[in-house]
Amino acid sequence: GYAGIDAGGTLVKIAYLSDGSAADSGGEGLLSASLPILVKFPTERIEAAVEWVRRQVPRDTVVGFTGGQAQRLRALLPEYEASAVDVPEFEATAEGAVRILKAEAEKEEAAAASGRFVLVNVGTGTSLHVIEGGERLRLGGIGLGGGTIVGLTGLLCGVRDYAEIARLAPLGSREAVDLTVGQIYAPAIPPIAGDLTAANFARPVPPATGAEPQDYAAAVIGMVAEIVVTVGVQAAGLQKTNQVVYIGSSYQDNALLRELTLRFTEMLGATAKIPKQGPYSGAIGALHLA
Ligand code: ATP
Ligand code: MG
Repeated sequence: GYAGIDAGGTLVKIAYLSDGSAADSGGEGLLSASLPILVKFPTERIEAAVEWVRRQVPRDTVVGFTGGQAQRLRALLPEYEASAVDVPEFEATAEGAVRILKAEAEKEEAAAASGRFVLVNVGTGTSLHVIEGGERLRLGGIGLGGGTIVGLTGLLCGVRDYAEIARLAPLGSREAVDLTVGQIYAPAIPPIAGDLTAANFARPVPPATGAEPQDYAAAVIGMVAEIVVTVGVQAAGLQKTNQVVYIGSSYQDNALLRELTLRFTEMLGATAKIPKQGPYSGAIGALHLA
């Protein structure tokens, strides 16, 4: 069997393909054709990941380790050392993304994201790549990502729990926090859409009403979406493609980030895809490159 483990700054993602078929070990989803089990654990509870591997993955399994915490996790699993392989993070991410796009396109009978595309991995931080067949080049990164959503919302209103932030955000209003183009121009008619953000977090403090946690959550997610999309679409333009694919666990169960990412990308004239199994790109890539 084969396993790929992507130990990132926030989450450890595991893809495991046994020699038999899809197993019964509480996996989160299955990838068509090859059917690996997919599970994740918080990196701060890395022992839980170690435990899961020891229980579910036979000792002779070829295990590909990738991600920033790969060395640490590998050292915690000495039983697998004989068949352990280090897979460079950006190669694993790109390989996994290509495979996931292909599998999901087949399943949905949609057009595969063939040809050239920019891959935006919104993890704890954000990394950008351009991919076309075997050509996989990392373009750069920005320090605005899923970690910013959790960290900045936490600093602003004390809510640090990811699930809580993702739940609150769609209920919030950015008007309480951000300054829009319409507000700058009022009462005149703005030359561009009035609801565009003129300046994130620049709303003058209103005399009576303050911003609520859900408003901060919405504003932080809005800012991350705007910047990630702007950088992704501009990179796509420079790379002569209009296809942008967004992956990373930041899109998992975060309805507002998904919606804004799709909307802003289309608004800027490019085509967005957020594959369902995107959070497991690194793990699936590490499994196949191990
Ligand atoms: P990096 O690649 O930057 O080292 P990573 O691989 O750990 O980090 P991802 O797992 O892709 O990053 O994404 C982490 C982000 O996903 C978090 O910052 C948060 O916004 C979001 N997230 C999704 N699910 C959870 C969860 N259960 N717990 C915490 N954060 C979550
Ligand atoms: Mg990662």
